Amino acid sequence: MSLKIYTVPCRIGYMDNYSYILVDDDTLISAVIDPSETQPIVDELSKLKIKPQYILNTHHHFDHTDANLELKEHYGAKVVGNQADYKRIPGFDIGVNDGETFSLGKSKAEIIDVSAHTKGHILWYFKKDKALFTGDTLFNLCVGGLFEGTEQDMFLALQKIKSLPDDVLFYPGHEYTMHAAFFAKQYNQNSQEITQYLKNAEQRLRQGLPVGPVTLGIEKNCNPYLEADTIEDFCRIGE
Ligand SMILES: [Zn+2]
Repeated sequence: MSLKIYTVPCRIGYMDNYSYILVDDDTLISAVIDPSETQPIVDELSKLKIKPQYILNTHHHFDHTDANLELKEHYGAKVVGNQADYKRIPGFDIGVNDGETFSLGKSKAEIIDVSAHTKGHILWYFKKDKALFTGDTLFNLCVGGLFEGTEQDMFLALQKIKSLPDDVLFYPGHEYTMHAAFFAKQYNQNSQEITQYLKNAEQRLRQGLPVGPVTLGIEKNCNPYLEADTIEDFCRIGE
């Protein structure tokens, strides 16, 4: 593995965001994904002695981009996001498009457009490192709300995620596991896997750790929204 990943909880207790610091081990080129809040990220970067070259955004919402400008100014980092969102992402410098590859040193991320939560929402998929940054599209046991897309859009977005290998770890933009736990448990009655999932989640949260990362393989079996195989089934979830 050449990509190191550090989780930074932000807006704790009211929005429960996760930002992530990425470092390419070979070149020490680094980035922050979805900088939600300046102080916790600057603190963690100082602790790690890292000056990020890039800020990578999954989408334009303020709780994922609020620290873009301050980090950009502080570190001289370049802001990278979906080209289509160039007017909506603060400090936008470099545009990427669906299907393209972005190089963070020797680590490579594939860009996957999953417009649904917002139009232009992208995933950052580090294929070789088996790491997927899902922003507000996929959370533990649930998915993001539909601010700018339709149920059909979200269903298609989730099919793209489902097509990725089971051993990929996903890193969501918020800690929502326990909000989704009751419903996921109801949906997956008699499933040992969901019982184990929630046991692990509770244990980690009690220790002050993020629930994730969880593998897509486990998530595909426990997240009701990923379990739906047809748009009809998807639309019926939660009815
Ligand atoms: Zn959002």
